[in-house]
Amino acid sequence: ELSVEDLHLDYGDVPVLKGVSMDLRQGEVVSLLGPSGSGKTTLLRAVAGLEAAKRGRITIGERVVFDGAKGEVPAEDRNLGLVFQSYALWPHKTVYDNVAYPLQLRRTPAAETRQRVQEVLDQLGLGHLAARHPHQLSGGQQQRVAIGRALVYNPPVILLDEPLSNLDAKLREEARAFLRELIVRLGLSALMVTHDQSEALAISDRILLLNNGRIEQQGTPQQMYGAPRTLFCAEFMGSNN
Ligand code: ATP
Repeated sequence: ELSVEDLHLDYGDVPVLKGVSMDLRQGEVVSLLGPSGSGKTTLLRAVAGLEAAKRGRITIGERVVFDGAKGEVPAEDRNLGLVFQSYALWPHKTVYDNVAYPLQLRRTPAAETRQRVQEVLDQLGLGHLAARHPHQLSGGQQQRVAIGRALVYNPPVILLDEPLSNLDAKLREEARAFLRELIVRLGLSALMVTHDQSEALAISDRILLLNNGRIEQQGTPQQMYGAPRTLFCAEFMGSNN
């Protein structure tokens, strides 16, 4: 569904991604885990087309969207759903209009938009909140609106940057279970950034552990936790941060 091969990215003179290769298979939830500054968000943004890589290759579905020498497909044509840490909702738009916005941008006919937005709001349990504004919602509800907006044009792959980090501990567990269930129910593939190893262990089919711009180790939660191959992996997966 998604593959990254030998991706290099610098900010100015500073190398941030130093040859990252990974893939995301259909229906999988993969977490990008690692300490602050290890390059998780940068990798996600490069996949989304929001950050220009130096070399390497990114393929989404059948399409090569970045190939160093040959240029790249712009972010809006990559057909990915994006959920940002801050949610980035429009404060002056209602829940309905926030979710409808990507369809309106694409000039989807009004009747089709209404039907699709209603469907997404129902899938997310937001139907009764359609007329509210973001500040009238709980953190968990705001997060669902951000997910709805990302899913409204049916992208096969969804990218999430620390989607749970703005929620308090109790809500986070509930939201985590909801997110996992939603991804499975809709048959999506998801790549999710987190710095929280217990979250990654709970939600993922596979975990990629980043260390200083490189993938330190990858595997299933059981492999990462039970069979770390390096001290870094053992410490990171075992620590309570
Ligand atoms: P965190 O968990 O703190 O979000 P991260 O693993 O997501 O960390 P990145 O945000 O990808 O890390 O950042 C990787 C490195 O690149 C860091 O050293 C960061 O300071 C640097 N960096 C990030 N964005 C920029 C930018 N726009 N310009 C210059 N340097 C940047």
